Amino acid sequence: MPDLPKQEYSLWKEAHVQPMYPRLEENIVVDTVIIGGGITGLSAAYLLKKSGHSVAVLEKSTIGGGTTGRTTGKVTSQHNLIYADLYTRLGEKKARLYGMANQAAVTLVGKIIADEKIACDWEIDDNFVYTADQKQVRYFKKEAETAVRLGLPASFEKNIPLPFEVKGAVKFSGQGKIHSQKYLLGLAKTVDGNGSYVFENSNVIGIKDGRICRVRTSKGTVRSKNIIVATNVPTLPLMARGAYCILEYPTESYIVAGTPAKKLKGMYISPDKNHYSIFPKAEDSKQTLLIGGGGNISGLRLSKDKRYDKLANYAFENFGVKKITHRWSDRDYITYDGIPLAGKVYPWSKNLYVASAFRKWGLSNGTASAMIIHDLITGKKNAWAEVYSPIRLKPIQSIPRVFAQKVLRF
Ligand SMILES: Cc1cc2nc3c(=O)[nH]c(=O)nc-3n(C[C@H](O)[C@H](O)[C@H](O)COP(=O)(O)OP(=O)(O)OC[C@H]3O[C@@H](n4cnc5c(N)ncnc54)[C@H](O)[C@@H]3O)c2cc1C
Repeated sequence: MPDLPKQEYSLWKEAHVQPMYPRLEENIVVDTVIIGGGITGLSAAYLLKKSGHSVAVLEKSTIGGGTTGRTTGKVTSQHNLIYADLYTRLGEKKARLYGMANQAAVTLVGKIIADEKIACDWEIDDNFVYTADQKQVRYFKKEAETAVRLGLPASFEKNIPLPFEVKGAVKFSGQGKIHSQKYLLGLAKTVDGNGSYVFENSNVIGIKDGRICRVRTSKGTVRSKNIIVATNVPTLPLMARGAYCILEYPTESYIVAGTPAKKLKGMYISPDKNHYSIFPKAEDSKQTLLIGGGGNISGLRLSKDKRYDKLANYAFENFGVKKITHRWSDRDYITYDGIPLAGKVYPWSKNLYVASAFRKWGLSNGTASAMIIHDLITGKKNAWAEVYSPIRLKPIQSIPRVFAQKVLRF
């Protein structure tokens, strides 16, 4: 088995570790203040600025200091096996809107990269969800049929470019690979300037919703018409924070990276036991392969080291990765109906918006959420808003599920 590096450190973070933007040290006024310098916050800031709003992004550490800086890099509307399930549970209309929102997000990311000339190793490639278990094949066929019916670029495949046998796969063509950190830095550069701001090292410690909103850090205050909380774990006023703990729960994921014996095309994930997320980073000469997985409810079961060992073994046995150069982990949030939360925080919110719970698919879901909140703020109709609305979930209905997830699994 290849040795693991001593320290956990995300490969993407090598693009930016030092602050590039100032700390908020005065009182300023903008149209919209955005808390969080990840893909959700910076995409919302970008879209609002394009629509003529002045914005301020407040990031408590550095740009990409959160989960976006520790992601894998698949920008896709294919979120493991999801569409047949959404279709059955929520109906055709909602399943279609979810797919449309994420497919539009993939297109938007590509468009922003082209328009703003952001060098972030963007590459169009196919994404696959595969199984090595013959008994599962019928579910994969059903997933492909449902995704096609919903208008997504899906097909069922028997042969895919992986170096081991699979029994079947659902392919989504025309999806994206990204260097998340370089993308965020590109977004931040376009957001900052001409009456809009990006601040790093600016931890928000107070939020006040109202006709005039206020967001406070230890050194300064931003007054605005709107607040967007894009902190992944919602940093909200106390009551809302309690309610959101019941609406969503964290899961941890782990990644190891190293050079494979042979270059690989495509991006892959499997719901099978002991199969993982596979992501060959877009690169010109030698390739880096990311193997991710080991997801669990945060704090439960196997130790971190054992999870990394399993991933490193898998990388070695299946792809000839002899040396693990990086390993890292982070958590993402999931709601009990599997759809993210994007919109007004609660029914009586005046101008306080939130985006969270991306189910480990926040590169597309975070971008789609930014599009929804942009439309809500600018008064534009958005068909996906109802599906993502946080108001659809009732904390009281989630309590039994929280109990099952957090208590019974101990
Ligand atoms: C290991 C792993 C792999 C993943 N792989 C993929 C993938 O391949 N494709 C995909 O689509 N999704 C993937 N995801 C999920 C995706 O990365 C996340 O959903 C997404 O990055 C969340 O983006 P965000 O902007 O909402 O949050 P973040 O990137 O976490 O940004 C929130 C920011 O808010 C800041 N913040 C927090 N509190 C405050 C405060 N009080 N004041 C100021 N700032 C604050 C944080 O420092 C942080 O920078 C993965 C997740 C994990 C954990």
